[in-house]
Amino acid sequence: MQTGLFQPSKSVIRVSPFEGYTSYAPYTCTQCAEGWCMTACPVGAIQINAAGAKDVVDDTCVGCKLCTIACPYGTMFYDGDTRKAYKCNLCGGAPACASACPTEAITFEDVETADWIGDFAAERTARVLAVEAR
Ligand code: SF4
Ligand code: SF4
Repeated sequence: MQTGLFQPSKSVIRVSPFEGYTSYAPYTCTQCAEGWCMTACPVGAIQINAAGAKDVVDDTCVGCKLCTIACPYGTMFYDGDTRKAYKCNLCGGAPACASACPTEAITFEDVETADWIGDFAAERTARVLAVEAR
């Protein structure tokens, strides 16, 4: 996603310094198989979009921040202005970070996403849906 701001503190891609600032590495949501953010969300506001990315549905998000705690990579963010969570949504399949990088340090590969919900997430999601259906 693009926040529409030139403001690193609001960006969904961050840069980590290593070894006393001698090297740096960008990081953002890995679209991890287990999708902890998605399984933690109590209202089902995180879904997989057409690009295969876990994405926040703004109209459904209630701003509880559980997903920001659940993500082990620190790549789920909370916007105090909108009171919604936000994260990388792969820009619809054409990530702006990859096209903006002047050294091609970031590249985007379109890979099979059919199993991007891991076993744990699939099992837990089924359990949550079963409880809700009662
Ligand atoms: S902040 Fe929004 S997306 Fe995150 S867990 Fe709460 S309702 Fe779900
Ligand atoms: S925000 Fe975190 S938990 Fe959610 S898919 Fe990305 S890396 Fe996984």
